[in-house]
Amino acid sequence: LFVRAALADDATVALDPAQANYLGNVLRLGAGGEVLLFDGASGEWLARITEAAKKRMTVTVQRRTRSPETLPELTLAFAPIKRAQTDWLVEKATELGVARLQPVMTGRTVAERVKLERLESIAIEAAEQCGRTLLPAVAEPKPLAAFLGQLDRPLYFADETGGAHASEALRPGPATILIGPEGGFTPDEREAVRAHRLATAISLGPRILRAETAALAAVTAYMALAGDWR
Ligand code: SAM
Repeated sequence: LFVRAALADDATVALDPAQANYLGNVLRLGAGGEVLLFDGASGEWLARITEAAKKRMTVTVQRRTRSPETLPELTLAFAPIKRAQTDWLVEKATELGVARLQPVMTGRTVAERVKLERLESIAIEAAEQCGRTLLPAVAEPKPLAAFLGQLDRPLYFADETGGAHASEALRPGPATILIGPEGGFTPDEREAVRAHRLATAISLGPRILRAETAALAAVTAYMALAGDWR
């Protein structure tokens, strides 16, 4: 379970009502029950339930069970798409080990605004399910020009009009993958991205993938070729 509290030996943590309900009523755990916690920074800790009331539950930390994992420094930059698809993209990126999520607003982005708290809670749920103890950072949306202007690492630009084969282009090390919106980049945007000194266009095959599929494919290619899978 994710807790917004700094975890350490013997720390006492009050769980939120939803977590208390889940442990008490769904998992039928009571005083003495054990649970694994993470705070998004210090790894995973074993805790024991010390007080279990209807909607209140307090746990006491016993010991650290895992140090924080090291994750490839991969940022997934994406033009927000329809809400359900963006939710799905955030969940898959979290499961696959992406370190940072960067919404990028482009001319054809359909989503007016991005609800960061919503994306953060989806990332927390995905982290709880897949067992990662570091949460992906969810950055404030940026316009494409500002995003390009602040680039400080290789940018792998998923371009359905053509690009390098992933196995040739993707290299280990800090990187950003950029995926366009459903309607694609405008010709000017594509030109601006391709002209960036740090950008390499990569192909994800001969078919036109949905944006969320392209995000999944590109992140998987990076993790398999240049990431931490073994
Ligand atoms: N131009 C597309 C069309 O004709 O429908 C619209 C963009 S596509 C639905 C959404 C995004 O996924 C693209 O901007 C690109 O970043 C990525 N993408 C889709 N298929 C791709 C492919 N075969 N290779 C590389 N990127 C791809």
